[in-house]
Amino acid sequence: MQFAGLPRVRLAHLPTPLEEMGNLRAVLDGPKLFVKRDDHTGLGLGGNKIRKLEFLMGEALRRKADTVITTGGVQSNHARQTAAAARKLRMEAILVLRGEKPEGYYKGNLLLDDILGAEVRFVRTTDFEEADQVAHEIGSRLEKIGKRPYVIPVGGSTPTGCLGYVAAALEVMGQIQEKGIRVDSVVVANGSAGTQAGLVLGLKALHSGIQVIGISVSRPKEVLREQVLDLGNRTAESLCLDVKLNPEDVVVYDDYIGQGYAVPTREGIEAIKLLARTEGIFLDPVYTGKVMAGLIDLTRKGVFKKRHNVLFIHTGGTPALFVDEGIFP
Ligand SMILES: *Cc1c(COP(=O)(O)O)cnc(C)c1O
Repeated sequence: MQFAGLPRVRLAHLPTPLEEMGNLRAVLDGPKLFVKRDDHTGLGLGGNKIRKLEFLMGEALRRKADTVITTGGVQSNHARQTAAAARKLRMEAILVLRGEKPEGYYKGNLLLDDILGAEVRFVRTTDFEEADQVAHEIGSRLEKIGKRPYVIPVGGSTPTGCLGYVAAALEVMGQIQEKGIRVDSVVVANGSAGTQAGLVLGLKALHSGIQVIGISVSRPKEVLREQVLDLGNRTAESLCLDVKLNPEDVVVYDDYIGQGYAVPTREGIEAIKLLARTEGIFLDPVYTGKVMAGLIDLTRKGVFKKRHNVLFIHTGGTPALFVDEGIFP
């Protein structure tokens, strides 16, 4: 795989640690468990979007952008990480956030966006595409007054952003070879499909034989499987890789969403407490807690057996722990 010719700007602390979770395994009495600490990518409190932003901001710099515009939910981790990356690279950040402006003091990611000095616009919609549309309109208006905006779609899930997780697949393979461990399955959150698409493509291109299991945090599995497939294959093309993803390469579960995106589930909250109390690792209620709830359920159902080795990707999101009151009864 050739990353050498592609614009990339170093933003993340890499490689992130890959560690065993022996105490959690003892409690679950299931597969051997490992965690990839992509919550520790460093910049702006870290998370999975920093890997995507290395390539997206590389592209923005190449185009001599002075302003980055992106979209997300009100408590978007992606928006916060994009704002941090923009500041590091001396650019302005405009964040188009889906939802209402909260009353009172900002919390969690929104507080961090404010501290970063990002310009925040709220749009009353739940629709990803509508918010992306607003971002493009703002971009066009800025162009007319001589600015150089670069628009990043929701979650940074473009073929360029996906490269971050193709590179992460390489990093994981290097680490498991070095440590002499075997991994059968990777378990990861799926919000806007880019992280899973990059991992599936990278691990397939490396002939790893590792299955990637995506856990949806918002949308039906049919929609996400289609997106992973499409995004993965477009990313392969952009890399001139002779690899094609097939429907059977893309596994997504949508059983752990609960009432909807960012609405905490009882199982997710239990999973957050369990990981903290066994391994001292904090998850979040929007993404990783629900993914861990899925991993635990798939262990109970015997999908993951004792002889299996499972790698959980911790994609970050911990600022969301400090937003809603009373979710930890
Ligand atoms: C964005 C995000 C994800 C999902 O990544 P996608 O590439 O959008 O699927 C998972 N976990 C956290 C904490 C995130 O912020």
